Amino acid sequence: MKIRLDQTGESFDWQETLSLSVADLDRPELVEIGAIRCRGKINSVLEDLLLHARLSYEQTLCCTRCLGPVANSVSTELSLLLDSDGRKDKALEESDRELQQSELSVLVVEDKILDTQPMVIEQVQLAIPMKPLCKDDCAGLCSECGADLNRGSCECEQAVDPRWGALAGLKSGSSDGSVRH
Ligand SMILES: [Zn+2]
Ligand SMILES: [Zn+2]
Repeated sequence: MKIRLDQTGESFDWQETLSLSVADLDRPELVEIGAIRCRGKINSVLEDLLLHARLSYEQTLCCTRCLGPVANSVSTELSLLLDSDGRKDKALEESDRELQQSELSVLVVEDKILDTQPMVIEQVQLAIPMKPLCKDDCAGLCSECGADLNRGSCECEQAVDPRWGALAGLKSGSSDGSVRH
């Protein structure tokens, strides 16, 4: 959707359902993404335009350990100060200083036309974790046979290298010794 910021008035209701493809996001962790429901307002506050919205959608990510699907319901809030006429470069007004102190992100809008799609894509990107996990203690895949260790141990795990076994024995032996001192 393209919103003309010179026609938003005091308050503009932004309601949009955006369909993005996985290719739009270009993230290997993302397997599937549902329609993105955007509900929010653009309010004129003194000389500024503030956008406040909530995005909600379903996404399926790929667990970085076991490669299994991780389904998420995402509901994320978005607050932006829209800078539609490059006033950032001019001397800041008092109201601007207060807004800056509230650490709102500023989105520069060209030609007073806000294109919502790139803005939404950026928010969705931010909501994709760097290393998605299906659960915190995901056991991952066996590096030998590729079995999903969440479903139980594989054959390889039982065949412990005898050298490691000997080392484990030494360790427990020495700690036993110090306790009995
Ligand atoms: Zn996993
Ligand atoms: Zn294995």
